[in-house]
Amino acid sequence: METLEQIQNFKGKYPKQLWYLFFSEMWERFSFYGMRGMLVIFMVNQLGLNKVEANLQYGATQAFVYAFTFVGGLFADKILGYRKSLFWGGLLMIVGSIILAIDPKQFFFLGIGFNIIGTGFFKPNISTIVGSLYKEGDPRTDAGFSFFYMGVNLGALIGGYICIAVANGSMLSSLVPENLRWNVAFGFASVVMIISLLTFIRTQKSLGPIGLSPLLNLKDTKKRVFEYATYIASIAVIPLIILLVSNPKYTDRFMFIIGPCALAYFLFEMRNFSLQENKKIIAALIFIFFSIFFWAFFEQSGGSLSLFAEHNLETKLLGVTVDPNGINNSANSAFVILFAALVGLVWLWMNKKKIEPNTTVKFGIGFLFLAVGFYIFYYCKFFANANGVTSLNLFTFAWFIITFGELCLSPIGMSVMTKLSPQKLQAGIMGMWFLASAYGQYFAGLLGADIAKIAENKTGIEALAIYCDSYKQLALYALIAGVILIAASPFIKKLMGGVK
Ligand code: GLN
Repeated sequence: METLEQIQNFKGKYPKQLWYLFFSEMWERFSFYGMRGMLVIFMVNQLGLNKVEANLQYGATQAFVYAFTFVGGLFADKILGYRKSLFWGGLLMIVGSIILAIDPKQFFFLGIGFNIIGTGFFKPNISTIVGSLYKEGDPRTDAGFSFFYMGVNLGALIGGYICIAVANGSMLSSLVPENLRWNVAFGFASVVMIISLLTFIRTQKSLGPIGLSPLLNLKDTKKRVFEYATYIASIAVIPLIILLVSNPKYTDRFMFIIGPCALAYFLFEMRNFSLQENKKIIAALIFIFFSIFFWAFFEQSGGSLSLFAEHNLETKLLGVTVDPNGINNSANSAFVILFAALVGLVWLWMNKKKIEPNTTVKFGIGFLFLAVGFYIFYYCKFFANANGVTSLNLFTFAWFIITFGELCLSPIGMSVMTKLSPQKLQAGIMGMWFLASAYGQYFAGLLGADIAKIAENKTGIEALAIYCDSYKQLALYALIAGVILIAASPFIKKLMGGVK
């Protein structure tokens, strides 16, 4: 077995284990985004929900999925270790998607419940393992996370496309009987999740001591009691999750409670750490706080921007006829795949030249890109025809710019979480990072609903003006956030100790 020292002293740009994690995460995201892409359509077409209910339900699912990463991270730190957590999470996701494949109509919320808990155990921990491949201060860490993020989006793009295409019959329709399309589509999600887990199982030996149980000092029998209790509790809680998710009105209350509880938990944990370590935790919490705003704007993609795409965009991209909503859904992932590794290499190059910005400045730049992107959404207003239909080219260009913002914030954020958290809190902090995404999704829904409400029953040109002017507002807020971060970077740098 390789020692931690040997793993972290790898030669070249990326450790070999990153490839294995890349593929596990790629398949997991295929499954996750594959299912996510089917949810709203399934609820409307198959479960007979109206669009508003389906959207609320969708928002609730997203919020819960990311909120449980915090719980999954917590149990990984305290009991299971990252590896067993990841394994357990993967297993639950497989069970959830098989349940959906068998009878999505009857067992819809049961399947979703398993997937929520499963993702909670899987998602934060695989990201934490990536961070553990690097020694403290290794300048290659951010590039590693950028590369890993490419896997995330590769899976998201392919899964997001294939599952819904099979479900609505635009793919494999000659092979799959019409009444089984949804079953097969959910079945795809389970098959790729099995591939994800097998990839992890086959390659986990290469992780040496990374991610083993934190309870190594306990006797085996006692350790097992804790582990099995975790497994049983995580299944026992599923009926509660089903209750909460199937009543979107509970989402508000849940979101109202989980964030403050998570924060209180960290404040409580801080008593165990030195001042130096606590300063780093505070820095991590500042990044987490800002990321909520980033995701709230960014996730307009699934809400108000998709409505904007449906009604106010041309169907031609660079002269080729396309579905504007397809572009809204996939352009960002495609740009991440094309540019993530490149951005990672730029950080490495800047590091060599000693001009690499620190994390706070990268975050600030991320917000500036976001601001420019939203300003371009606003600017679409000036390219519209009399019916309020505007340029898809310009709209896509905005996503191109926003993608660079995401690459300055999302992989860098995961990376810095692993650098700032004490060993014993690694997965919990990573879970908290994703909990911010839960809030981002949640606020995105509220924000999007507000915009959509004002634009309701308006003519095309009036709706265009309402959407675009709202995006101008968001651009301004993103700009302010970016400026605050860059101005505060000397202060945050002090909190971060030696961490760049
Ligand atoms: N798209 C990324 C992923 O799926 C980031 C998600 C998030 O943090 N909101 O991992």
